[in-house]
Amino acid sequence: MAVQVELLLDAHAQIGEGPLWDEEQQVLYWVNIMENLLHIYDPATGEDQAMDVGQPVGTVVVRGSGGLMLALQHGFASFDLHTHQVKILADPEAHLPENRFNDGKCDPAGRFWAGTMAIAATKGAGSLYCLDTDLSVRRMLGDISISNGIVWSLDHGTMYYIDSLKADVRAYDFEVQTGNIANERVVCRFTEGMGLPDGMAIDAEGMLWVAQYNGSRVCRWNPHTGQVLETIMLPVSRVTACAFGGADLDTLYITSASQGMSPDDWKKEPHAGGLFACKPGVRGVPTFRFKG
Ligand code: CA
Repeated sequence: MAVQVELLLDAHAQIGEGPLWDEEQQVLYWVNIMENLLHIYDPATGEDQAMDVGQPVGTVVVRGSGGLMLALQHGFASFDLHTHQVKILADPEAHLPENRFNDGKCDPAGRFWAGTMAIAATKGAGSLYCLDTDLSVRRMLGDISISNGIVWSLDHGTMYYIDSLKADVRAYDFEVQTGNIANERVVCRFTEGMGLPDGMAIDAEGMLWVAQYNGSRVCRWNPHTGQVLETIMLPVSRVTACAFGGADLDTLYITSASQGMSPDDWKKEPHAGGLFACKPGVRGVPTFRFKG
C-alpha cells in the first residue's frame, strides 16, 4: 500500500526548507529561506508561528545551551527564542555578498556544518563550512554549487553530503574527534526524471531519505548499494527537504517550494510550498545539537 501523504500547512512558502525536529520541545522548526522566516510548527495544536530573522535563512539547528542556531545569508548566528534576537557569530563569506548559506546540520560532536551557494546559483561559487564548538570556522569543501543535505551514519564514521548540481550523494570517511573528512566517493547517482537531490535525513536502519527537487518525491536510498528502496510521491514537484519527527520519530516531515511557478503551474500544484507529513513505516534517529 502506498504511503499516504498529508498536507499539514498550505503555507505557499517560496522556499520551504530545513525541517528539524526538536525532541525536547516536541516541535518542528523549518524555514522559508528568501522570505527571511523561521517557523515553529507544533503538531499537537497544528499551530505554526513564523518569525522574521532579518535576512535569508538557510537552515536551523538546536543549540544545546539554549535557543537555536541559524545559517543566514551573512553567516552563522544564534537565535534567542524568547527575545527573537539574532546574533552573528561567524561570517566566513563576508567577501562574497552574492552568496548565502543554504542547508546544514550538526555532526555527532556537536559542530554545525552548513554550506553556501550563490543566490543566482552560479556553478561552483559555494563552499561547505564547519562551525566548531569554539566558534572557529573551517572551510571543508570548495567548488560547491548548491550545498544541501548532510547527515552522519549511525556509527558516526561516515558523512553523507549533497551538492545538488552534481546529481549525486557523496560519502566521506568522518573522524568524530577532529571533524576531518576524507576519501570522497559517490554512493547514490541520480538519473533523468528523478529530480535533483536536495535535503536529506537518515533512518534508524542507516538508509538515506532524499528530497528530490523537481522530482515530486522523497526516495529512500541504500547508500551501500546505491539502490532506491522506496519512493514517496508528493502532489508538488519542488520537494526540498525532509526530517523525521513526532514523539516516536516515526513521522517524516517534508517541505516544498513554489519559486518560479507560473499561473499554470499553480493550477496543477495548488499546494506548492506546503508542509507535508507521512508515516513511512521506519523510524528516524535524533538529530545532533550544536554544542558551542
Ligand atoms: Ca535545500
